[in-house]
Amino acid sequence: MCSKSVIDRTLTLKFLQVMKGARLERTAAFSAVVSLEARAMLTGRCLCGNCSYSIEGEPVVVAHCHCIDCQRLSGAGHTTGAMFAEDGVNLIGAPATFSLTSDGGNTVTRLFCGTCGSPLFGKNTGMPGFMTVSLGTLDAPDTLKPQVAIYARTRRQWDTMDSSVATFDAQPGWEPSDGV
Ligand SMILES: [Zn+2]
Ligand SMILES: [Zn+2]
Repeated sequence: MCSKSVIDRTLTLKFLQVMKGARLERTAAFSAVVSLEARAMLTGRCLCGNCSYSIEGEPVVVAHCHCIDCQRLSGAGHTTGAMFAEDGVNLIGAPATFSLTSDGGNTVTRLFCGTCGSPLFGKNTGMPGFMTVSLGTLDAPDTLKPQVAIYARTRRQWDTMDSSVATFDAQPGWEPSDGV
């Protein structure tokens, strides 16, 4: 019991350090390449265009997830998503939803286009008030840069990743309300 909580705590501290560094880096990157207007508003859409969205604010975290559910959802080795405060997200259109229970017992709801199937957003009852947008659906996907990779323990051999991205075996014990 003790050793597990020590590991969890070490992972959490490491995660917070990464987040802090990433936030500084992100601020610098934004001021270098993105205009103030683009910084305040991100837009995106599904493949067919029936669903679109705009997002105000800055992401809490940008992450790759290699969990098995994300592999099925994406049909690839991982998902890549950016988490934002839900009140900054404006959805246009009516995405279809699918809910399931995660390993941790939370309800995960996926929002996707019912016509073309593009995965647009994810919500998790473990993180109320936040939504994660699929990075590849942004109109300018290079605006944001992944900071961490989670659930590396189920990463597929053929899913080669950038070794400079901080990687965690599972989900570190961190919530948006903890801050960075
Ligand atoms: Zn669509
Ligand atoms: Zn996942």
